[in-house]
Amino acid sequence: MSSGKINPYEVARKQIDIASKYLNVESGLLERLKHTKREVIVHFPVKMDSGEVRIFTGYRVQHDVSRGPAKGGIRYHPDVDLDEVRALAMWMTWKSAVVNIPFGGAKGGVQCNPKEMSIRELENITRRFTWEISIILGPEQDIPAPDVYTNPQVMAWIMDTFSILKGYSVPGVVTGKPIELGGSLGRYEATGRGVVITSLEALKYMKKPVEGAKVVIQGCGNVGGIAAKHFDRLGAKVIAISDSRGGLYNENGLDIKRILDCKSQYQCLICEKEEEEITNEELLELECDILVPAALENQITEKNASRIRAKIIAEGANGPTTPEADEILNDKGVFIIPDILANAGGVTVSYFEWVQNLQELIWSEEEVLERLTRIMQRSFREVLEISLAKKIPMRTAALVLGIGRVAEAIRLRGIYP
Ligand code: GLU
Repeated sequence: MSSGKINPYEVARKQIDIASKYLNVESGLLERLKHTKREVIVHFPVKMDSGEVRIFTGYRVQHDVSRGPAKGGIRYHPDVDLDEVRALAMWMTWKSAVVNIPFGGAKGGVQCNPKEMSIRELENITRRFTWEISIILGPEQDIPAPDVYTNPQVMAWIMDTFSILKGYSVPGVVTGKPIELGGSLGRYEATGRGVVITSLEALKYMKKPVEGAKVVIQGCGNVGGIAAKHFDRLGAKVIAISDSRGGLYNENGLDIKRILDCKSQYQCLICEKEEEEITNEELLELECDILVPAALENQITEKNASRIRAKIIAEGANGPTTPEADEILNDKGVFIIPDILANAGGVTVSYFEWVQNLQELIWSEEEVLERLTRIMQRSFREVLEISLAKKIPMRTAALVLGIGRVAEAIRLRGIYP
């Protein structure tokens, strides 16, 4: 799905330039924020099921730790490269700051194709990669979480490997763990729920009801799939959904429960006769009230932005829209809930998980959801207020809020020595 040509790190840096016009931050500090703090690149051997030894390349990049430990997911994907991980780490910094939780930003990734690997190979890759980057991990230093094609089981292996190295259990080294190992209730659904909570706020602002709202979702994982489930429950009409191979469309609304059950059972979308098959490209251009890109970066670019017919875009994925596409969409009056706000529910409940681990406490799902809703609604309001006061798009407003908070933290701490 990724166009492959657009460099996300250049996009992320360009976003700083755009936001800097509305920020009162000295240029040296902005330049610091355009760089990452620390980058670990590892090449490591893994024994595959065939007996063959293969070398994999992995990255862990910490962009900034001024407001707290580095925080961000680990993705397994064939297209992972250093610049992608750098951009994703930078977006994590802004995201944590936008929702005002005390974390910095990091991201990790291993270049591999998990769809072609057995469980044992995945475990071997995860354990060896964890060991390789363990020098910069820890509950006070850097805390990974799930991202594209990683899940609670992968987090359990990370926690176990790190704990073996330390000689005692360290649940707080990673979030998004299985509940049995100190994972938080509500974490698995948090990103998708956050997308829905912020979308509801946008609908409220536009004075539109959720009942009957037409929703289009690109991606069917723990962001797109969960968002679809909750939109459906709220009475919205999910008219299209896709996975990496393509999508299903029904103008009158899809049977989301059947589709998600089928996806979890057979790992694919199966088309029934009342539905039409569509490509991921066609899906993005459907007329709808809410479009949720919840897959990879660079899906909405200058090539297709003029054909987007959504009223609201809620970015479940990180970096799905390029700055050139933003300009076109802004001119068309599309209301964008940017990634660093829309998908911040995941890192927010990661923060709750980390707090519970450090305090050795367990919160109820109601408490987690209530706190998540409050933080997402408050953050939406803060971004909207900046957007209206400065007459700037929501993305620029979110960047102004996030970068502003990080820059202030750096200013207060001062430059050492
Ligand atoms: N990978 C998720 C994100 O991009 C979650 C990060 C986290 O929970 O640390 O926001």
